[in-house]
Amino acid sequence: MGSPAPPIAYLDHAATSPMRREVAEAMAPFGFHRFGNASGSHSAARDARRALEDAREEIAALLGAQPAEVVFTGGGTESDNLAVLGVLGLCERDHPVVVCSAVEHAAVLAPARAAAGGRGRVVGLGTAELRVVPVDAAGAIDLAALEGSLGGDVALVSVMLANNEVGTVQPLEAVARIVRERAPGAVLHTDAVQAAPFLDVAAAAAGANLITISAHKLGGPKGVGVLVVREGTPLRPLIFGGGQERERRSGTHDVAGAVGLAAALRQAAAQRAGEAARVGALRDRLVDGLRSAIPGTLESAPRARVLPGHAHLRFAGIEQEELLVLLDDAGVCASAGSACASGAIEPSHVLLAMGATRADARSAIRFTLGHTTTERDVDQALAAAPPAVERLRR
Ligand code: PLP
Repeated sequence: MGSPAPPIAYLDHAATSPMRREVAEAMAPFGFHRFGNASGSHSAARDARRALEDAREEIAALLGAQPAEVVFTGGGTESDNLAVLGVLGLCERDHPVVVCSAVEHAAVLAPARAAAGGRGRVVGLGTAELRVVPVDAAGAIDLAALEGSLGGDVALVSVMLANNEVGTVQPLEAVARIVRERAPGAVLHTDAVQAAPFLDVAAAAAGANLITISAHKLGGPKGVGVLVVREGTPLRPLIFGGGQERERRSGTHDVAGAVGLAAALRQAAAQRAGEAARVGALRDRLVDGLRSAIPGTLESAPRARVLPGHAHLRFAGIEQEELLVLLDDAGVCASAGSACASGAIEPSHVLLAMGATRADARSAIRFTLGHTTTERDVDQALAAAPPAVERLRR
């Protein structure tokens, strides 16, 4: 018999966050006796409908929106696709312009590229023009370049609230002000998937017309999300059918998922200030400990500018894939921050946009902390990483 497996130190909350107990409890009845189809009219359907609308109201209040502005989707990827393709699909211009930061998630960049006639060209949509706005060395959007990119027929601007890889929080208020001044007809979308566990999205994204949220990054269920669509924002659906969600997203409602998302957002909001401080202190201990134990460790972005749960580090001279395997052997779940479907890790487009070389980008590891992270998890990572890096450098 081999030695027992080490306990798991889960430090990959940006990939997904364990479900909160309150969320599982809130959802449980909807997998069992409260099973109605929210679109029907009998008592079982009315019960489901009531739960769905209660969830919608609560989510709206927590995101600073009206209930009618909350569109339930199948997650962050669908919300981002709906934002990009939904806006471009309805605009009547021949060559609409879409403007994105260089560090957007693939769920924004890929449909934007498809709309611009790139790989995966969308029928009838290939005529858009994509303008990618550079970021600075910390991963924050270059506001002067944004301003310069807003000439002509801009239909959509998409700038995330916080980045999933390095955690950099974007100056969204300034972005919104510039878009209003320079391209008043443009729709502003923000992907708030990573920001939602730590920032008050209602305040931070107040200037956006469209806001993406994903439940599973908040300790909610996977496969559920929201796109906030402010009143008056033109949007064509991606999924047609029974006309649910005011014709914006057809399909029988996932009532359990909506209830779970509301519970996750409620918990995250109630604990936000305390958790930001607690998780931020754990993150600081992890980063300071690794920096002092491992010479040549660099933080990818200044700590003051990233989410409290993010520690994105470069260990000069190592290959991230090899370090991740050694960390995993020691029970530490971390990430390279970006992966393609084949499992092979490509140098991150985010790090390259921030000015890193391909070798730098391949030496980066992302540790992300969240609502279940404890001192013990940090201790385990602090014990595992230094010998692993030393071994790889030898
Ligand atoms: N946007 C960002 C910034 C993300 O980090 C993710 C998930 O990795 C997504 C969108 C996609 O969300 P989902 O996993 O719910 O499809």
